[in-house]
Amino acid sequence: MKKIYLDHGATTQLSEEVFETMKPYLFELYGNPSSLHSFGREVRKGLEEAREKVAAAIGAQPREIVFTSGGTESDNLAIRGVARAQQKKGNHIITSAVEHHAVIDTCHALKEEGFDITVVPVDETGMVSVKDVAAAITDKTILITIMMANNEVGTIQPVAEIGKLAREKGITFHTDAVQAIGNLPINVEELNCDLLSLSGHKFYGPKGTGALYVRKGTRLKVYSFGGSQERKLRPGTENVPGIIGLGKAIELAVKDMEQKTARVAGLRDRLIDGLLKLPDVRLNGHRTQRLPGNVNVSIQYVEGESLILSLDLKGIASSSGSACTSGSLDPSHVLLAMGLDHQTAHGSLRLTLGVENTDEEIDYVLEVVPEIVERLRAMSPVYTCKND
Ligand code: PLP
Repeated sequence: MKKIYLDHGATTQLSEEVFETMKPYLFELYGNPSSLHSFGREVRKGLEEAREKVAAAIGAQPREIVFTSGGTESDNLAIRGVARAQQKKGNHIITSAVEHHAVIDTCHALKEEGFDITVVPVDETGMVSVKDVAAAITDKTILITIMMANNEVGTIQPVAEIGKLAREKGITFHTDAVQAIGNLPINVEELNCDLLSLSGHKFYGPKGTGALYVRKGTRLKVYSFGGSQERKLRPGTENVPGIIGLGKAIELAVKDMEQKTARVAGLRDRLIDGLLKLPDVRLNGHRTQRLPGNVNVSIQYVEGESLILSLDLKGIASSSGSACTSGSLDPSHVLLAMGLDHQTAHGSLRLTLGVENTDEEIDYVLEVVPEIVERLRAMSPVYTCKND
């Protein structure tokens, strides 16, 4: 059976080119980058080149890049690091209702430690308003953390404006750009951000790799001790092959990005238009301010999990929201924050496209989905009653 992967928001396949770049660092180049001998020095060189690549991709200086184990760790380091470093200045943090759990749960943990958290709402497209962020600022605000683009519905947030506001007020600004790398142009100067999280496995790099951009002068108080690696912000022997892979992956992700994302956005729009032709289907998220590969629809009278399993039987990998929460039956906090009722939120389907998807694959999905929806609706008592 033909297999079609439409869950790039959850993770992506490691690129061959990235693997080839990593390979020597798994075998011949095995020295510890902190060692003074030639084995170590050679590895250090590769590691620093990877740092340069990450920095170049986002308009940063290499010394502003800290390698981590991924998006979750970067978010934790940024938010907890600022909270602890600046707690004498204030205890107020602003975030949004549609953040990834790596941000939400970190803020929640800080709330239990006595920090005051304001969660700004979003509109029906999942967009944060800069005015709401401005109105939430108090003289105790030390951090604003708002994601660049949402992992479930793909909505792109006005982060440059939020960054400008934060800069004017002297407040540290963090953005989770995990879903944005390789999909949107990113320049930390234009975004006015002080901290930015990214994760390798979302752009054809290895899993368990990531980085945090820390603007020069931004103070973080760490919660992990034991070595002086990564300027003591992330102690421990580096995941060298992973870091080498991350560097190569980000270099490839930003290369010809405009052409690649334009093609993917074309497939996305065709998929959205095709799905919206079905009765009782609505698009979740913003129609244009949207990640190039994101499709998220609510299909009324159909249960999301059944839809995903039926699609899987046809060889199509999809999801109902973020991979991390899809094991739970709770409706997505993102869709609820956008004002969807529980039933509509439960019938959501996320299809996230990548560079390897083709027109033929989209044709196949548009052929299969209506058949499945019709079959599932025929079994739904709510749908049957509606049509009686
Ligand atoms: N932030 C966002 C927006 C994400 O989509 C994800 C992963 O789904 C993460 C953070 C967590 O990244 P990682 O899987 O690298 O820990």
